[in-house]
This record gives sequence, C-alpha cells and structure tokens, in this order.
Amino acid sequence: MDIKSKKPKQSLIFYYVIVLVVLFALNFLIFPSIRERSIVETTYDQFIDYLDEKKVTEVQLEDDGVTIYYVVDDNGKEIICKTGRVSEDYHLIDRLDEAGVKFAQVIPTQASPILTFLISWIIPIGLFALLGWWISKKMASSMGGGPGGSMMFGKSNAKIYVKSSTGIKFSDVAGEDEAKELLTEIVDYLHNPGKYKEIGAEMPKGALLVGPPGTGKTLLAKAVAGEAEVPFFSISGSEFVEMFVGMGAAKVRDLFKQANEKAPCIVFIDEIDTIGKKRDGQIGGNDEREQTLNQLLTEMDGFDGSKGVVILGATNRPDSLDPALLRPGRFDRRIPVELPDLKGREDILKVHAKKIKISDDVNFSDIAKAAAGASGAELANIVNEAALRAVRDGRRFATQADLEESIEVVIAGYQKKNRVLSEKEKLIVAYHEIGHALVAAKQSNSAPVHKITIIPRTSGALGYTMQVEDGEHYLMSKEELENKIATLTGGRAAEELIFHSITTGASNDIEQATKLARGMISRFGMSDEFDMVAMENVTNQYLGGDTSLACSFETQTQIDKKVVELVRAQHQKALKILQDNMRKLHELAKYLFDHETITGEEFMEILNRAPESLPNAE
Ligand code: ADP
Ligand code: ZN
Repeated sequence: MDIKSKKPKQSLIFYYVIVLVVLFALNFLIFPSIRERSIVETTYDQFIDYLDEKKVTEVQLEDDGVTIYYVVDDNGKEIICKTGRVSEDYHLIDRLDEAGVKFAQVIPTQASPILTFLISWIIPIGLFALLGWWISKKMASSMGGGPGGSMMFGKSNAKIYVKSSTGIKFSDVAGEDEAKELLTEIVDYLHNPGKYKEIGAEMPKGALLVGPPGTGKTLLAKAVAGEAEVPFFSISGSEFVEMFVGMGAAKVRDLFKQANEKAPCIVFIDEIDTIGKKRDGQIGGNDEREQTLNQLLTEMDGFDGSKGVVILGATNRPDSLDPALLRPGRFDRRIPVELPDLKGREDILKVHAKKIKISDDVNFSDIAKAAAGASGAELANIVNEAALRAVRDGRRFATQADLEESIEVVIAGYQKKNRVLSEKEKLIVAYHEIGHALVAAKQSNSAPVHKITIIPRTSGALGYTMQVEDGEHYLMSKEELENKIATLTGGRAAEELIFHSITTGASNDIEQATKLARGMISRFGMSDEFDMVAMENVTNQYLGGDTSLACSFETQTQIDKKVVELVRAQHQKALKILQDNMRKLHELAKYLFDHETITGEEFMEILNRAPESLPNAE
C-alpha cells in the first residue's frame, strides 16, 4: 500500500516561488535596465549642437518632457540619445524645422494594461507551470513509484507493510539468538507499552543492527514487525541521497510524519551509513548528506518515544557512523548480527530447506561444516541452488549431493564444462591441490579437507578445496597460523618439487599467506621485535577487513622484511614436508588426476595405507 498525500507538494510550491521571483526580477529590474542602457543620455545643449551640425535624423518628443532623438555619429552609425526638455526653449519647433528632421509628439500608445499584464505575467507563469507539471510527471514515473507513479517530490517512498504482508516471525530467522533476545524486548514493548510506562522505563528509540552483508539484518527487522504485529516502513539510506538536492531532508521529515500517523510501528533504515557517515566538516563535503543526517537527528530527538515508533537501522560499517547518531536517545542500542556459527548455519539451512522438497537422509551438519564462513544469504542461496540442480537432473527432490555441489557453486561458481584443461595443466593443478592438502594433513594429523576437485569453475578457480572445520575456532595460536601459512604455500611447493617450474596458479594463496603473516606481525603481536604494539588498525571490519598502517616508514620496512622471513620459513617447511612424503604426493595426485575429485576420507585412506610401489616414484 502506498501512501499518497493530497496536499500540494511542497517542492512544487517552492518551484513556483522561484518562478515568481525570476519574473519579478525580469520585469522590474532586468528589462527596464536593458532598455535604458542602450540610450545615451546627453545634455540639452549637446542636443542643440547635434541639431546644428545636422546629425540628428529623428526626434520624438515624449509626453513626460523627455526628448528621444536619433543621431548619426561620425562613423555613420545611428545612436539613440535622450535629453530633458528646456521648457523656455520656445524655438525648438523652429529649430527642428530648420534642421529638417522628422519630429513628432509621442502620444503614449494606450497599450491595454490587460494585454501588457497578460504578456509579461500570465503567459510566462503559464509556461513555467506547464514545464513544472511536466517535470514532476517525468520524475514520478522515473522514480519508480509503481505503475501509478505515486512518487512525489520530497515524498519518501518508504513502503508500508501491514502486518499480514510481512508475516515474518522470529522463527524464520535461524541462529542469531543474541540479536533476537535483544529485539524481543522491543517487541514486548510494542505489545505492552503500559508495563514499561508504569515503572517509568523508556524504550530505546532506535536500535542499530550491525554486521556483515547477508546475515539477516533486514530479516530481523521484519521479524520484529511481524512479531509485534505493527506496520513496517522500510527505506534504504541511499534512497535519501538521490536525484535532487534538498530532497533528502524532506524525505526524512515525511517518513517520520507517516510513521507518527501509523504508530506504533517499525521504521527500518537500511544502509544507514550512506547518510550517517561522520560529518568531517571538510570544505566541499557532501552538504546534501549532512542536511539529511541533521534532519534525521532532529526527527529522532523530536518524536515522542512513548508513541511506539521504533527505528531500526542496519549497517555493515559501524565505525564510519557519525557519533551523534550513536549517542543515547538515538541509536543507543547496538545489536551485533554476526556470520552464523556451525550450529547457526545448520539451523539456517534447515529453515530454508523447509521451502523445498528434500530427501530425508540429508545431513545438514555436514553441509554446514563444509559451508564454513557462509552468510545466511549464501546458505539460502545454496539451498535454492540444490533445488534447481535437482530439477535440472529431473529429480523430484534435492539430495545431499545437490547441496554439496551447490556449496561449490555458490562459493566457487558453476562448473565450466566446456573449459578443457590440457593434460599437463590438469596434472599441475592436481599436484598443486594435493600439495596444499598434504602439508595440512601432515601438520595436523587429521583430514584437512572435505573434498578436492580439479574441475574448473566459472569463478576462474582451476581446482577447489573444500575445507572442513570441526567445531568453531575463535582463537588461533601462533603455531596454527604458521601451519596455515605453510599449507597455503604447499600448492606452489608441490609444483616446484615436481615440475621444477612455477605457475601463476598460486596468486590467491600468496595473497592469503601474506595477509596472515602481516596480521601476525602487525596486529597480533606475534613477532619478537614489536612485542604487543599494533602497527595496523582494521578500518573496515565487516567488509573485507581493510587495514591502515599506523607506524613510521622505518617500521614499515621492518614489517615487510619480517613478513617475507615468516612466509619464507613456512614455505621451506612445506617443501620439507612434501619432500619427506614424496611417494604419497605422487599417489594422491595421480588419484586426483584420474578421478578429478577426492573426498576427505579417500584422501586419508590413501595417506595412511602402506606405501605401494609406484612406477614413477622418485
Ligand atoms: P542483510 O540485511 O543483513 O544484508 P538480509 O536480511 O537481506 O541480509 O538477508 C538476505 C536473505 O538471507 C534473507 O532474505 C534470508 O533468506 C537469508 N538469511 C539471512 N540470514 C538468515 C537467518 N539468520 N535465518 C534465515 N535466513 C537468513
Ligand atoms: Zn593453491
């Protein structure tokens, strides 16, 4: 349902005021002065001189005692001059006669005042009105206010979902128990405000959902509305800052007006960081955004919290938000919505699996393990991909294999069936992937992977290793990190040992290994030199985790050296491990080359069985 107000649109009024001001300026200031400017004012005796010199061609005696006359100057150009009239000059007519100029007493033409008014006011106003109407119509259709074009200037297009249409409950949001717990209180308040008022407790006006993309922030906000059975307004921060300057603040005002009318209700502002960025006071800063933010702050302060309007904001860059937004009385409650853990992933998979037909023997725990690091949105996508795959294969329901394959699809892209690797390349990829796995397995003495495939993916990956994680890790020791770096170098190490040449295939490994090593030294205090001093700060926690250096140039150079040292040591370790297990490396790589896929169990089975004599073993 869209809300349309019948009042004249504010910005159109604004537009007409501007038009009127422009017309006034034109009619009273600009036009007269243009008319004036081209007329040269002269003294009377100058006029007489011109007459005597016979330079004057025509004279108009105006009613108001002004004489307008045309003079031909020395270059033969005609100029218009003006002078006053000396009433004692009774000979003027004689003079004019004598000079033989045309002259006339000008009787002001009684141009009908109605006509003048029409030409200088009504017609321009009409034209501008037409233009304004046309522009507003154009904007209405281009702003996508639906088929009816309900979008108006300065109208927020926050959509209302009345209770029946969200229908989303907390049970639809899997995992995220802490977030749900914090939000339950808000729901309870919306249900039963009296209980809180009695004791004098005030509900927070706003809560900020903070977390990486796709973790269910929007879903949670909808669930709050669904649970509380109140209307739900949602608008994205970027919608405030679009199209026309000055609209953002108007939209905020309008949004809150609508919300107040529908209270109790939930207002959800997605991507609040787009308007809520720190105001840095720089010259040439984004005025539009700051105005919008100021308006938002004013509105949040202004509205009566007891009416039951709760504002939920979502962002994945909380550190860039303006402190003013976060102070008490505004978004004072901060609700972290993190990537789901193993249990959370399993639950999310189950929630979404309910929507598709799926075989009973699917082990969600395994899938959840394999999909380490996936967000809720990715998990939902994995389930859907599995269903699509089942349809493609003509089956009636999705299976475990479908789910496993779709993890790879979602994370690594579709299989590239038509991309044929040459035998040589395939062999290199096989050794590379086994190199990683073998180094990992030898360091941890357990199955390092769930599955390895060497079927090229649309993402560009030539091989793909699905890691398993038994349980969750929240802490990593120095040794574990070092082992991880060794594992990352294992792929390249295998290539070096077997083919005595290196390929470009390790670029991603190199990137990751460097990032880890750098983190160990500059952030985790895992080097002897720098002790517990942070040399780098993470600036963008939820989006890639960019870092910014916070140290002198000399230290940077030292850090770089340390990073190289660390990676080199682990690379050597990987080479050593592979050299010591050369037979197994050949055996496993051959298996992968022949089968294109190897599971964790097969891998461990081959690794642990008694060495067989291979013809090409070194
Ligand atoms: P965000 O707003 O955090 O970027 P969304 O709320 O838009 O993420 O999530 C996108 C989709 O991902 C949801 O529509 C839902 O299908 C799925 N999803 C994300 N998190 C969960 C969760 N915890 N439980 C169930 N589904 C989830
Ligand atoms: Zn690799």
